[in-house]
Amino acid sequence: MKRSPFTRRPRLAREADQLVWLAEGLARSSSRVEDAFWESRLIAEVESLVEAEDEAALTAALDRLSQAGDRGFEELADVIESRCESTGTAADDPQAGMLLLAIPVLAWSRLRIPAGNLPDALLAQVRSDLQAHVIDPEARLVLGDFLFSPDQLPQGYIATANLARRFFAALEAKRPLRLDAGDFPETGQFLSDARYILAAVSAAPGSALFRWQAEDSNRDALLAAWSEAARNTLSGAFPACAIDVLGPQAFFSACRESDRQLRPYSLNAGVEFLRATLGVEPASLRAFVGGFHGHRLEEYRVGFALPEGEAVIHGVVWPLLDAEDENSDVIADVEQRLRDAGIVQIQVFEQRFPLEFCDDCGAPLYPNEDGEPVHPEMPEQPTSPSAHLH
Ligand SMILES: [Zn+2]
Repeated sequence: MKRSPFTRRPRLAREADQLVWLAEGLARSSSRVEDAFWESRLIAEVESLVEAEDEAALTAALDRLSQAGDRGFEELADVIESRCESTGTAADDPQAGMLLLAIPVLAWSRLRIPAGNLPDALLAQVRSDLQAHVIDPEARLVLGDFLFSPDQLPQGYIATANLARRFFAALEAKRPLRLDAGDFPETGQFLSDARYILAAVSAAPGSALFRWQAEDSNRDALLAAWSEAARNTLSGAFPACAIDVLGPQAFFSACRESDRQLRPYSLNAGVEFLRATLGVEPASLRAFVGGFHGHRLEEYRVGFALPEGEAVIHGVVWPLLDAEDENSDVIADVEQRLRDAGIVQIQVFEQRFPLEFCDDCGAPLYPNEDGEPVHPEMPEQPTSPSAHLH
C-alpha cells in the first residue's frame, strides 16, 4: 500500500526533530558528564532508526543541521557513521568492538581499471600484509573477496550497515566473506579512479585493533611499509595500471580520504597520460580551470590543451567535497597541484560554467582557452586507436 505523504511527513519531521535536538544538545555541552546524557540518547535514537531502516529521517536531520551550519552536524554524522560501520564497545557484549574497514586503492590506466572478485591466493597475501603492518596480532580479521568500484560500494547508511552486518557474521564464523559479482552494478571506466577492498576487524574489549596502538610503534612507518607491501601484492590484480594503496581506515573515513586524495592523483594521472601518449611535457601544456555549477558550485574542471591549437585534448574533474562551497579556497589547491605536476601555463576563469555533459557519451565538458565548455578531443594517434577516452 502506498503511504500518503501527508501521514508520512509529520512522523519524519518528529524523528528528525528529535535527532536535531539531541545533536545540538551534545554539541553545546561543556562537560563529559553532560555529553554522556545527550550521547546515550542520541545513540539510542539513531540505533532505532537504523533498525527501522529509516534512511530518510537520518538524512533529513543531517540536512537540517548542515543547512543551519550547526556544530551538531558533526556530532550526528559521527554517531550515525559509527552505528553503521561498527558494533558497540560494551565490555559485556560478545559482539563488541567489530569494525568495518575499507582499503582504498587509487589507480590509473590507459586500459581498464579492474573491479570484481579477487582470487583466494591474492587475498591471503593481502591478509598477511595487513597482519604484518596494520592489524594487531591478537585481533581477528576477515576480508571480502571483492574489489569494489565507487559505484559498487553500499549507497547510504542503511546499505552500509547491512553490508557491515554480513562482514561481522563472517568475522564470527572466521571465514572470508564471499560476494557475488552479479549483485553489483557495472563499473564506469575512467582514466583514474578508486577501488576498495573491504575487511572487518575485532578485538577483545580493551585490546588493540591496530599495531600502532602498541606503545613503541610508529604509525607513519607502519602505514608506509603497508602501502609498499600492498602495492607489490596488488599490482598483479591491476594489469597495465599504476596504483597507490592508501592506509586501511574505518569505512566512512577511508572513503572520504580516498575522495580527497583522488583529486590530485587524477590531475597527475592526466598529465602522465598526456606525456605517455603524446610525448608532451607538462611545461608545454596549457591548463584552463573553471567552476561548474548546478544548483550551486559542484566541481572545478580542468581542460588541458597543447601549446598550439584550440582543442581541449583531455580534462580532469576536481569535485567539491564535504563542507566545501563557493567560499572555500579550493581553486588555490587546484592551482598548486597543477604547478606541482609541472604545469606552468594555468588560466582560471571567474565565470560560472553550467554543469554540462556530452549528450552522446556523458563526458564532462571542459573549459577551453576562450572560456567555453567543450568536448575533450584527443589528436589522432596512429599507434593507439582506442585512446579516445571519455
Ligand atoms: Zn562525447
